[in-house]
Amino acid sequence: DLAGGRGTANGGSDVKAHFVFIPLMFQGHLIPAVDTALLLASHGALVSIVITPSNTSRVRPTVDFALKSGLPVRLVELPLDLAAELLPDGADDVDKVPSDLWPNHFRALARLREPLERHLRARAARPYPTCVVADFCHPWARELAASLGVPRLCFFSMCAFCLLCQHNVERFNAYDGVADDHELVVVPGLEKRVEVSRAQAPGFFRGLPGFEKFADDVEQVLAEADGIVTNSFLEMEPEYVAGYAEARRMKVWTVGPVSLFHQRSSATTLASRGETAAIAADECLRWLDGKEPSSVVYVSFGSVAHAEPKQVVELGLGLEASGHPFIWVVKNADQHGEEVRDFILELEARVAGRGLLIRGWAPQVLILSHAAVGGFVTHCGWNSTMEAVAAGLPVVAWPHFSDQFLNAKFAVEVLGIGVDVGVIEPVMFQVDQREVVVARDVVEKAVRSIMDGGDEAEERRRKARELAAKARAAVEGGGSSHANLLDLIESFKVDAGCHIATTA
Ligand code: UDP
Repeated sequence: DLAGGRGTANGGSDVKAHFVFIPLMFQGHLIPAVDTALLLASHGALVSIVITPSNTSRVRPTVDFALKSGLPVRLVELPLDLAAELLPDGADDVDKVPSDLWPNHFRALARLREPLERHLRARAARPYPTCVVADFCHPWARELAASLGVPRLCFFSMCAFCLLCQHNVERFNAYDGVADDHELVVVPGLEKRVEVSRAQAPGFFRGLPGFEKFADDVEQVLAEADGIVTNSFLEMEPEYVAGYAEARRMKVWTVGPVSLFHQRSSATTLASRGETAAIAADECLRWLDGKEPSSVVYVSFGSVAHAEPKQVVELGLGLEASGHPFIWVVKNADQHGEEVRDFILELEARVAGRGLLIRGWAPQVLILSHAAVGGFVTHCGWNSTMEAVAAGLPVVAWPHFSDQFLNAKFAVEVLGIGVDVGVIEPVMFQVDQREVVVARDVVEKAVRSIMDGGDEAEERRRKARELAAKARAAVEGGGSSHANLLDLIESFKVDAGCHIATTA
């Protein structure tokens, strides 16, 4: 019973708080937002999750599982006005939007404000919301919350280390006078020496054509929030959580790892978290069951990054040469022409039994939680990094873009659970990339360094396991993330008003 006897599925009069979640509908934002909403629901809050039609199927299985368990959760499906922003049909699914139309997609999202407000004011949506929790990429949520007269929290799935580094380079103008985007500068205001380049950490939406004003709005609206909710946990980075709260003069509620909401989900539910997996849960588990404990390396670069054909070949050859069993999420790599398709098919035949290739969506958390998995080659998207932490796994850090470089530094230099593969320049889609970024021998060496024996590897494994134990403790009764969820409900319950303490 996830509800623990509290709350009601219909959101009746005993509801203590009503949170309206407005996720950004990119999987890396949507998945942790839904998990966070369900965690609040499992402590008795009513949650309404705003979703657009093309994305409903991505969250439906998880939400249905929660409803069956008696959690008070509602999906609020609202269509985007695509025509108004000259977007094609289906363009509420960001995967179908070419990147030059992203500004239009974000403008179409902002048009949700009015229909959403109308919906929330209607009798059918009662009880009236007590708090809006909006992804930081929805600056229009400020007007929504103001108009509804309720407090507004900014939602992130990022570590406080990354948030603080990003905030400090901006507020202390660390890139001023630095002409070269790839020149490393020291992040100001930290005790630890951390170096980053403008290319690696430009700031949210900075440098993206068509997003100049939007980037300013995002910062302004974040600065005016009533607090921050993020998928991290206090014990992992106490100094950075405190440092970020102090810098923002805002309360920061760490509620992660939110993937641990699924500790009690069935394998099938887990295999449809974020998308229906391209492999059946039982087939995947059978394959893993046949492997030795901690022997398999899992390789995936998240929902956005796409590998360039030559890079796919190098990665494949590196994995083969490592000698370790592996699960490799090749997504749609074999659509990049005959050569890559043939390469993948031949590789698959050579490593039959030792290598499992997944074409499409992988049941990632299901895989990572299996005892046979011993390491993770990751792009260091924050969700993947947090899922590695929750599973107690060492990582090979292979960042591609956005916050991934800071997350990689955090995993390698702060947590000590990772090996850096040595990428220094961001690659967005790699489509135009002619050169291989990481050569096969580098892949092989990195995989061996997390999977083989030796003192350093043992030390990384020990740290990863220790961190996983802390993560588990954080979400259990008496833990920091658990306490923060309860505190959120207490702070934003009916009639609590908006008296939010600042830590300054
Ligand atoms: N994910 C998954 N299967 C896949 C790819 C991704 O389940 O094949 C999930 C993954 O577990 C994580 C999220 O999608 O929760 C990806 O978020 P992350 O921040 O790691 O990377 P992004 O996709 O935003 O680059």
